[in-house]
Amino acid sequence: MKFKTLSIHAGHRSGDHQGAVTTPIYQTSTFAFRGVNQPGPFDYSRSGNPTRKVLEECLAALEGGAAGFAFGTGMAAETTLLMLFQSGDTILVHNDLYGGTYRLFETAFRSKGIRARYIDLRDSGGLEAALAEGAAAVWIESPTNPLMNLVDLKQTADAAHRHGALAICDNTFLSPYFQRPLQFGVDIVVHSTTKYINGHSDVVGGAAIVNRPDLAERIGFLQNALGTCAGPQDCFLVLRGIKTLALRMEEHNRNALAVAQWLSRHPKIESVLHPGLESHPQHRLALQQMRGYGGTFSFRVGGGQEAVFRMLAGVRIFTLAESLGGVESLIEHPITMTHASVPEEFRQRMGLSPNLIRISVGLEDLDDLLDDLSVALERV
Ligand SMILES: *Cc1c(COP(=O)(O)O)cnc(C)c1O
Repeated sequence: MKFKTLSIHAGHRSGDHQGAVTTPIYQTSTFAFRGVNQPGPFDYSRSGNPTRKVLEECLAALEGGAAGFAFGTGMAAETTLLMLFQSGDTILVHNDLYGGTYRLFETAFRSKGIRARYIDLRDSGGLEAALAEGAAAVWIESPTNPLMNLVDLKQTADAAHRHGALAICDNTFLSPYFQRPLQFGVDIVVHSTTKYINGHSDVVGGAAIVNRPDLAERIGFLQNALGTCAGPQDCFLVLRGIKTLALRMEEHNRNALAVAQWLSRHPKIESVLHPGLESHPQHRLALQQMRGYGGTFSFRVGGGQEAVFRMLAGVRIFTLAESLGGVESLIEHPITMTHASVPEEFRQRMGLSPNLIRISVGLEDLDDLLDDLSVALERV
């Protein structure tokens, strides 16, 4: 079956749910045994819940994986994955990434002996050298947040495997509709379903999807042992969001590309970082491994932080807020918001400048969005 069909049907069998056409919310903590020493298919909702199971099968189908896992948040998914590693392990991480992932590595896992080593994953020679020095995994984000750099998924996964390391990819920015990392040999895909997958800014959630049965076994074990799973109500909402994922992604993509093209012609804009523009240095790679660009990108305003603040205070339809991937357009200032937890020196190395703005283009009318930005940019 094709993506749109899977997004509506995968995982759900109405015969399992009294004929219900949509998946019911099994709001229960525990399940009756069929008899003494005879558990049913579910026994306790941390270990498994029917609503969660449908979502997990659906996520696996959409990513083209064999098994999926739903977590309470994206960070809960990441925490669970990092628990696969041992003290003394090194994980190679691209040096421009989601601020919360950086914080997780630095404040929670470094002191436990799991060390993130930040390198430029676009440099294949540097990656080979770092792998040769020993690494248990490579942690990929592509596009990166917020600079929209791309990492070659196939090349990176192949290099990791040559050195016996796992390749993990955070696919939050594109969703499986536009990019399916398992196809390129990545071992584990991780998502914040809070973003495009749910898409309506009313849930926090996470997911991991794998093909290898041994990894599925270990992640399933950890999800239960750590208790990082998603609750049934949230799983229901994410399932509902997924039904329109394809349609939403098409429209996010169209609106965002149009806004990016408009900004790139605007005299007050210094540069636009969007992989769909030919000016993007990795536009060709985008065409190879992505089917679209999603709705989130960044740009640099000509002017200092004060001009940027005036612009941010001037928007009316765009909401000044962290997060992305919802139906409503959001705008944010990475260095004072999403990436405030990244130290100054590291931010400079990443290229996070004070005039950088990230937007998540929603599904409002394009003309209204352009008018809103146009009025705000007059204040620069
Ligand atoms: C939001 C986000 C996360 C974290 O997810 P939460 O659901 O907020 O815990 C991880 N990675 C990326 C790329 C994100 O955008």
